[in-house]
Amino acid sequence: MSLLVVGSVAYDGTETPFGKRDRVPGGSATFLSLSASFFTNPVHLIGIVGKDYAAEDIQRFEKRGIDLEGLQRDDSGDTFYYASKYSYDLNHRESLQTDLNVFERFDPVLTDVAKKANVVALGNIEPRLQLRVLDQVEKPKFVAMDTMNFWIEGWNEQLKETIARVDMLVVNDSEARELTGEHSLLKAAEVIFTMGPKHLVIKKGEHGALLLTDGELFSAPAYPIVDIFDPTGAGDAFLGGFLGWLSYTDNFSKDNMRRAVIFGSVMASFTVEEFGPERLDNLTNDEIQERYYEFQALSEIPDPQH
Ligand code: AMP
Repeated sequence: MSLLVVGSVAYDGTETPFGKRDRVPGGSATFLSLSASFFTNPVHLIGIVGKDYAAEDIQRFEKRGIDLEGLQRDDSGDTFYYASKYSYDLNHRESLQTDLNVFERFDPVLTDVAKKANVVALGNIEPRLQLRVLDQVEKPKFVAMDTMNFWIEGWNEQLKETIARVDMLVVNDSEARELTGEHSLLKAAEVIFTMGPKHLVIKKGEHGALLLTDGELFSAPAYPIVDIFDPTGAGDAFLGGFLGWLSYTDNFSKDNMRRAVIFGSVMASFTVEEFGPERLDNLTNDEIQERYYEFQALSEIPDPQH
């Protein structure tokens, strides 16, 4: 089983209440593929980098066995750059700068093996490019997509065309509200279901995530982390864990999707412990397993009889 990932490969400038770093490796495809690589193999990464992209950042993917055949290099420009600043409570991110650079010329071309992936992850990227990928894949069993306010505000029509073609949409609470004009997340979910997807995940930052599928609601807790350094990439690491698990197990039942939500939450919880993808560089499978059980214990509700 294999997973196809498309998205941005970036350098980020990030300011949090705990520090400031520039040109940290980032991008939706970076976090998605690294996170998923702990579950399924191979992960086919489709993206583009510019002339400034460092060899050591390529090695990070290679060390995790990620297939880079579909990672294009365009020496005529620089890698996508994104700068942002987080509020003190880390729940609000202000975008300061988005330089598309080589992304402006990106045309995702899938390799033959990537076309056959059982699961497809459309990372946060221009919706037109997400559609280009869907036009090339063969018969994936499950397609999920992420997006962000940038595309909701400026690219609504193309975005809706993409949403209509996926099995699952993953957004955070504010994006769900912005996309639908509904404040209640349950009402927003109803509107999103009329757009096409059968499954929906709404991420609520440090308050966990909701999975809505076949009229059932599952609420995953958030892991109480002592030191959050950088929330960047948490959403993508979540989706990587979620889809990596589904791809590996090739099981799309409701129960297995609940497991996937927890594996996604586990990966997000590790990612925020360091700047950029640093924490994923030295993460082990045992740590992932252990945190899964901690998540399980977090919401074990005893019977009312005492
Ligand atoms: P997340 O924190 O999971 O929402 O994802 C953050 C990542 O998304 C950062 O590493 C950015 O490089 C990337 N990103 C930010 N804006 C865009 C955009 N407009 N298109 C594609 N990727 C973006």
